[in-house]
Amino acid sequence: LSAEAEEVLDEIDEQNVDFLRLQFTDILGTIKNVSITADQAEKAFTEGIYFDGSSINGFVRIQESDMRLDPDPSTFAVLPWRENVEGGSSARLICDVIDTSTGEPFSGDPRGVLKDAIDRAEDMGYDVNAAPEPEFFLFEEDEDGRATTKTNDAGGYFDLAPKDLASDVRRDIIYGLEDMDFNIEASHHEVAQGQHEINFTYDDALTTADNVATFRSVVRAIAAEHDLHATFMPKPIPRINGSGMHTHISLFQDGENAFHDEDGQFNLSDTAQSFIAGILDHAPAIAAVTNPTVNSYKRLVPGYEAPVYVAWSDRNRSALIRKPAARTPAASRIEARFPDPSCNPYLAFAALIHAGLDGIERDLECDDPVRENIYEFDEEKREEYGITTLPENLGEAIDELEQDEVVSSALGEHVYENFVEAKRQEHKEYLVDVSQWELDQYLETF
Ligand code: GLN
Ligand code: MG
Ligand code: MG
Ligand code: MG
Repeated sequence: LSAEAEEVLDEIDEQNVDFLRLQFTDILGTIKNVSITADQAEKAFTEGIYFDGSSINGFVRIQESDMRLDPDPSTFAVLPWRENVEGGSSARLICDVIDTSTGEPFSGDPRGVLKDAIDRAEDMGYDVNAAPEPEFFLFEEDEDGRATTKTNDAGGYFDLAPKDLASDVRRDIIYGLEDMDFNIEASHHEVAQGQHEINFTYDDALTTADNVATFRSVVRAIAAEHDLHATFMPKPIPRINGSGMHTHISLFQDGENAFHDEDGQFNLSDTAQSFIAGILDHAPAIAAVTNPTVNSYKRLVPGYEAPVYVAWSDRNRSALIRKPAARTPAASRIEARFPDPSCNPYLAFAALIHAGLDGIERDLECDDPVRENIYEFDEEKREEYGITTLPENLGEAIDELEQDEVVSSALGEHVYENFVEAKRQEHKEYLVDVSQWELDQYLETF
């Protein structure tokens, strides 16, 4: 048993943990749990826990269904909302999924896909850091406890109580996250009513992806304790801001920020510029992964601080990538503004990393940054600036993904095939549906 695993066993005793949730995600980013009793913990560390992979979305076929979970001891955390329920606590461990027929990491495990991207960066001499800015809405529940789209406050950007009635909930969410070892940097009411953002400290890309998965479940669980429904759906209400998950990325080399150059434009190094150029080059295909729902494309429209056009800037919030102001060289980073919180964070980070590294390998250079509001450009002006657009819907994004060798291979064959199949199906179902908008427009007109 590793020293880290020994420590977890001690913690389990000390913190009175009865149940352990072994956690991983399917390709759509949904958290899956296998629950074991605490006395199985040692066995979980030494032998792993076997489970049936055929019941997991996009994993394996029935005839090859034996999978194993290997818990990562560094991810042990007691679940704050399950503390001492009926005398004992519950904790979780995030796991790697192993293919029992080969004993190798399962190629359909999104966490493994991200590890591969991080390995590629390491081979090139880089450590990848990431930090997300997840936004979400808090909605009231109806009498049956089902989610509505009724907000419980009428606050706006950075409003405080008494208008921001949700600040109590947000405080409890933050305490819950801190109990799970999150280092919360800031939280505020977002632009839209009922919309919030909580920021936590950057970390290596794998830890950050784990954190995003955890973040979503903590926010939802604690909101539910207040009889509220937290949603990470990108655009729950039309004609107001949607929810993004801006993702900040930097590469470090030998402990130094490889994105920083005192003499570079906006203090960005050539490496950073090539990384940006790589993401811009592959952006339409990446969108299928970072913006993977039908609803994602309702957010990516002009006028709501979400990007539509493929361009970069130092401060422009209508650009796809922004260079945020940084106080220290170590804080130099880029901000990809297109991801939304419905993405699978492991796959989204993997796609962004591979695209950026491709830019570095090909020595790509950025076009000039665009400092004007691109929402206001007409087609002619966009052409003059060489600005292309993101896909308009999920179907187009999948088309782009299929044509992009770099982003599709970033996912690995197994995930790629299952992802494309699931997302095509999702888009097809949407296309045959008849929406409220159509009924409002046509039912009485024709
Ligand atoms: N909600 C906006 C988005 O969809 C971002 C707003 C902001 O953070 N300033 O990306
Ligand atoms: Mg923010
Ligand atoms: Mg924000
Ligand atoms: Mg931001």
